[in-house]
Amino acid sequence: MPELPEVETIRRQLAPHLEGRTLLAMEVLDARWCEPAAPVELEDAVEGRRIERVARRGKYLVLKLEDEVYLVMHLRMTGNLLLATGSEDPRYTRVRMNLESGERLVFADVRRFGTGVVLLGAVARDQYFDSRLGVEPLGDDFTTDALRELARGRRAPVKSFLLAQERIAGVGNIYADESLWRACIHPLRPVGTLRRPQLDTLRDAVVETLEAGIDARGATIDDFRNLDGAEGSFQDRFVVYGREGEPCYRCGTPIRKLRVAQRGTYVCPRCQRRPRLP
Ligand SMILES: [Zn+2]
Repeated sequence: MPELPEVETIRRQLAPHLEGRTLLAMEVLDARWCEPAAPVELEDAVEGRRIERVARRGKYLVLKLEDEVYLVMHLRMTGNLLLATGSEDPRYTRVRMNLESGERLVFADVRRFGTGVVLLGAVARDQYFDSRLGVEPLGDDFTTDALRELARGRRAPVKSFLLAQERIAGVGNIYADESLWRACIHPLRPVGTLRRPQLDTLRDAVVETLEAGIDARGATIDDFRNLDGAEGSFQDRFVVYGREGEPCYRCGTPIRKLRVAQRGTYVCPRCQRRPRLP
């Protein structure tokens, strides 16, 4: 599933192709993509408008069109955005957007969990995101103090806390494991018991992990591809994720796999001390 670095990679690749161009026509071929809205509602709202900016919030990709019209898309499990030029659509095309440049932006999605919504005005956009997403981990607001405020008094395992999009936006299973290994914190540790220096380390580890993912143009697992169809390379740089039985890069202890928050979770049992049960 694409996480923040994969969506940011797509955003960076799309921006030069889309910004300043007019979106001539949109065809939603799969009505499930935008339900409960009807395809024609979205099409009417965006057609003929210039794309001012390609933005991202958490794992959402946002096309800001003129007159404060926002097309907000989520890739979910297997969604992808591709630029097509020939007459053939990529496989599993669900939405097609024709640009004045002659290029075509295509939302392809084999499992059809991806979504699109149109929001009119910045107020509607902010309400939409505020009800779903917490602090942006690569933004200025993601400070140790902010993290401490979010964690205060919570008994939830730190990994579940990192995965909760309404607290921190954009961190998923892989980047959570990678961040916790970097910070030497066990995923089952109740987040409210982390001391300030640990929160400081965790904050930096989350930022460094996400930035490393963006530098590698995302990780390719399952179906994620970059805009040009190329695979990202972050999966070759995982420090702990998917390395069960292999030696920890810090201490050589074999990495173990457990289940936390119903997700496969990788830890170094020596570097990341399991919390004592109360
Ligand atoms: Zn270790």
